[in-house]
Amino acid sequence: MIKINNLNKIFNPNKKNEFYALKDISIDIKKNELVVLKGVSGSGKSTLLSIIASFLKPTNGFIEVNGEQIAKLPDHHISNFRLKNIGFIFQSFNLFEQLTVKENIAVSLIPLGINQDQIDQKVSKVLKLINISHKKDEKVFNLSGGEKQRTAIARALVNEPNIILCDEPTANLDYDNSLIFIDIIKELSIDKTIIIATHDPLFENLDFFNRIISMQNGKI
Ligand code: ADP
Ligand code: MG
Repeated sequence: MIKINNLNKIFNPNKKNEFYALKDISIDIKKNELVVLKGVSGSGKSTLLSIIASFLKPTNGFIEVNGEQIAKLPDHHISNFRLKNIGFIFQSFNLFEQLTVKENIAVSLIPLGINQDQIDQKVSKVLKLINISHKKDEKVFNLSGGEKQRTAIARALVNEPNIILCDEPTANLDYDNSLIFIDIIKELSIDKTIIIATHDPLFENLDFFNRIISMQNGKI
């Protein structure tokens, strides 16, 4: 599902502040694998996830995601590719605080150009799946951290992507909500390819993860 070969990311190349954030990365992640990407802060986890999500382009190297060489896609195809393939869950949730739960999720569907009934159907389905239907008309600023997280997960899932990328997903959650998050991921991992970048020790001893990839100074 995700093939990466000799990938490098250099920030500010050929400048005084040139920085190798990813060095010669090669990984192969199979369909429906569940991978923990671990490493201390600054080791390159977010940079790698951003490249897989095509938010960032690598400096050089090979990357193929779901059969597409994403670094070669023209910009106007990239957002379309991301929409169909990638669900991204951010550490700080990245929700619109002034919008309701339902509206935050529906925003992801606007580019599809589908009608209101179809939008409502898709949103309801994912609200039920993540168990947040009772808060659907609540504005995000009134939600607890755990509820915000569930809203963010629902938004990531609403387009039915086959790849879910999570960047420090439990960093802003308490212990109980972290365990709920892990339960949701376990359920999703049945038919999704998932990468979780984290240094949360909670992820270290879980038996349902296929693999832990460790990063240090931009290297695997
Ligand atoms: P992690 O997610 O593991 O904490 P990051 O991928 O965010 O690590 O960052 C890896 C390194 O790359 C850090 O040293 C960071 O300062 C650097 N970095 C990240 N983004 C940029 C940028 N846009 N410009 C320059 N350096 C950056
Ligand atoms: Mg990070």
